[in-house]
Amino acid sequence: MIETSEYPSLRDIMIARQRIEPVIRRTPLVFSEHLSDRAGFEVWLKLENLQIAGSFKIRGASNRILQMTDDERARGIIAVSSGNHGRAVAYLARRLGITAKIVVCDLCPENKRVAMRSYGAEVIVHGDTQDDAQTHAEDLIAQEGYTWADPYDDLHVIAGQGTIALEAFTDLPDADMIIAPLSGGGLLSGVALASKAVSPNVSVIGSSMEIEPGMVRSLQAGKPVHVEEHPSLASSITGAIGLRNRCTFPIVRDLMDHAVLISEDSLAPEMRRFADNEGMIVEGGSVTSVLAALSPEVKERQPKRAIVVISGRNIDLATFHQVTQNPEMIS
Ligand SMILES: *Cc1c(COP(=O)(O)O)cnc(C)c1O
Repeated sequence: MIETSEYPSLRDIMIARQRIEPVIRRTPLVFSEHLSDRAGFEVWLKLENLQIAGSFKIRGASNRILQMTDDERARGIIAVSSGNHGRAVAYLARRLGITAKIVVCDLCPENKRVAMRSYGAEVIVHGDTQDDAQTHAEDLIAQEGYTWADPYDDLHVIAGQGTIALEAFTDLPDADMIIAPLSGGGLLSGVALASKAVSPNVSVIGSSMEIEPGMVRSLQAGKPVHVEEHPSLASSITGAIGLRNRCTFPIVRDLMDHAVLISEDSLAPEMRRFADNEGMIVEGGSVTSVLAALSPEVKERQPKRAIVVISGRNIDLATFHQVTQNPEMIS
């Protein structure tokens, strides 16, 4: 595992911001009247659902890919993804004229596969879990020599995700809390490093699923542990953190103040409510940070102004239709 001295610095994250600026969108930070009323403190939404390719993932992926050598680019990129990382990699690969292979498992929603193919990436479906997809990608790298683009456990990816917090604290310097979904931990690591560098007293809160949250279980165990992956409306934040995790485990361990665990049943009603009140459709993984903002654990901390990262919008319309028709029946 990496040492504290290797954690991306504020300077690394500022350089990342300059590097990726031409390929990403600077997303707005908006005040939510409705959520502030419900929470009892100011809730500000960082709208990464409006990001290019539909989620924040392009920030980390572009900070990595833009630093690849000509030789690494020429070999083509390979990535494993639950959907959004692959979508970002596929988009960037097309834009930079690089070939991309994305390995997904059966749990990857169809709309995300279609989007990756539409950008010209080759989508390889392998196995029932992300771990199966990962093993297959490693075989392909060994046989054919592609360049690996990690979804979270990479210092350049983490620095890229950290640019979210740099933007948000530029817009709202006196925020005292930032809440973001937590899965592999690239998002939370970057957000925590950037937030605490610009505003040392800010609380950093993660939101994970209650069923088999990979990072939370690993923190409890004191080392990366395996968890089973389950089908979920929050498919972008399920699964393990990798037994060979080097970067996100220590960074999240050192910098996260608290993780709120979210139940599957609470997702659909909140997605529906969010669409109704904010006028935006967001995916299941993204409403976990909204639900965390409304949790008793966060209320107890008595924040005054919280930034809530809305991480992505990539839910397919048929699933969203089910969510609005019958929120209690989705699992
Ligand atoms: C990837 C992703 C997350 C979780 O990010 P990690 O870096 O894996 O913790 C949250 N929300 C969405 C929409 C994502 O695509």
